[in-house]
Amino acid sequence: MNSEKRHLIFTRLRDANPAPTTELVYRTPFELLVAVVLSAQATDISVNRATATLFPVANTPATMLALGEEGLKAHIRTIGLFNSKARNLIKTCTILLAEHGGEVPRDRASLEALPGVGRKTANVILNTAFGEPTIAVDTHIFRVANRTGIAPGKTPLAVEQRLLRHVPKAFRQHAHHWLILHGRYICIARKPRCPQCQIADLCEFPDKAPA
Ligand code: SF4
Repeated sequence: MNSEKRHLIFTRLRDANPAPTTELVYRTPFELLVAVVLSAQATDISVNRATATLFPVANTPATMLALGEEGLKAHIRTIGLFNSKARNLIKTCTILLAEHGGEVPRDRASLEALPGVGRKTANVILNTAFGEPTIAVDTHIFRVANRTGIAPGKTPLAVEQRLLRHVPKAFRQHAHHWLILHGRYICIARKPRCPQCQIADLCEFPDKAPA
């Protein structure tokens, strides 16, 4: 795909949604970190339902540690993999208090050193909590980037690196959310909604449905 097309695609996505953000409900970097860890293989809706009761009683590392692993599980047991997520979050709280003054660190290495936090989660935190122009490649972005031709790649990391190279600078901050939302609601996995897609004429997917 040429750079002119990419520019047009992001212009349209921006015009339709100038200030996109995550659908996870959070107020602080710590709340976002917890929500993102919980969201692995779970829907944002299910995470929001759990954090609606969790955050009023524990939304800092200290209060979450006080709640304890069993207390935490009681709030998140409707979410997949809740046992390992609870274990990781309690360990994370201990590390945040011991090594980061109870704050969420703003650098990739420290974030990725937290249990249950990989490159994708670190990218979400850096982008959404701290305003860094990172792009976290999840299943939706991976699919949209490959189908459209915006940034094809065989692995999430390859797609991420290509996006960072090719997304025009003006769009890099919000590219992550535009592509996720596009993948979640329009360019869905099984049957993409090409007739309703605002970038259909620019998309290079050979199997797109006719308008
Ligand atoms: S035209 Fe279809 S395949 Fe291309 S981005 Fe839009 S929904 Fe996805």
